[in-house]
Amino acid sequence: MEPVAILMIVSAAALGLLVGSFANVCIYRLPRQCMSIVAPRSMCLECKSTIRWYDNIPVLSYVLLKGKCRKCAAKISARYPLVEAITGALFFLIAWKFLVTEDGHFTPKFGIFAVYAIFASALVIASFIDVSLSILPDEITMGGLFLAPFVSILVPELHHGAADYVSNPVAARFAFSVFGILVGGGSLFLVGALGRLWFREEAMGWGDIKFLAMIGGILGYSSTLVALFVAVLTGAIGGVFVLIVRKREGPGRARIPFGLFLSVGAVSQLLFSEWTTRFFFETYPSIIRSLGADAQ
Ligand SMILES: [Zn+2]
Repeated sequence: MEPVAILMIVSAAALGLLVGSFANVCIYRLPRQCMSIVAPRSMCLECKSTIRWYDNIPVLSYVLLKGKCRKCAAKISARYPLVEAITGALFFLIAWKFLVTEDGHFTPKFGIFAVYAIFASALVIASFIDVSLSILPDEITMGGLFLAPFVSILVPELHHGAADYVSNPVAARFAFSVFGILVGGGSLFLVGALGRLWFREEAMGWGDIKFLAMIGGILGYSSTLVALFVAVLTGAIGGVFVLIVRKREGPGRARIPFGLFLSVGAVSQLLFSEWTTRFFFETYPSIIRSLGADAQ
């Protein structure tokens, strides 16, 4: 791989760690409406002392401080380094996929890198808020949903395939993004409506519907449908896990943070859509065919 390509990937990972640090601030402050996400500076939730810059280095500070506040030794949540590490890893993979060609050369597609990096950060923030508070904030779902079609106009690589259908590529990308929003929101609305008929209780929240609509605006309709499928699959596995844990803790209704699994599905399509497409359209059919052949 070209040295400049390696430099770009490493820089992207470092940027991701810093953005992850900011994501932690958003995860805590976004659902608490009275708090600004820029001020005041980060402080210990226990002793309220301001955290010094050298104690605020992503992942590293948590390890060096052994997960405790320097002043009062109160335990710092492991969520902080986890969010930073995940965001850093996502930026690393997005840079690898979109800033480096197949044969290892650097390609300056910064527009698409920026869109996907911001999108991935939004997924991380929304997922962790969903896990801790069971909400998906409108700032991310509705904000992203309204921004997506306009971002599609600005960045030609987003929905680039749309121009195959219409002669005006700008209008095509805009329309493609809007169609993705409708398919994303609509498909989950349908799943929720069926769930209501089947289980006779609320299966899907509006937050989830708005969230998949936003994902549809960025990924486009076909990737979004596969993302929903991956979310249902991983969510079912996660749900069984939650039930086992809850059973040990005692009674009470277990809640599955579906926003987290929608994010898993979206990331799978962002980074590995070729693999999942190959699996569903080549590997899986060939397994079924060979099973059929064995049965005869
Ligand atoms: Zn403290």
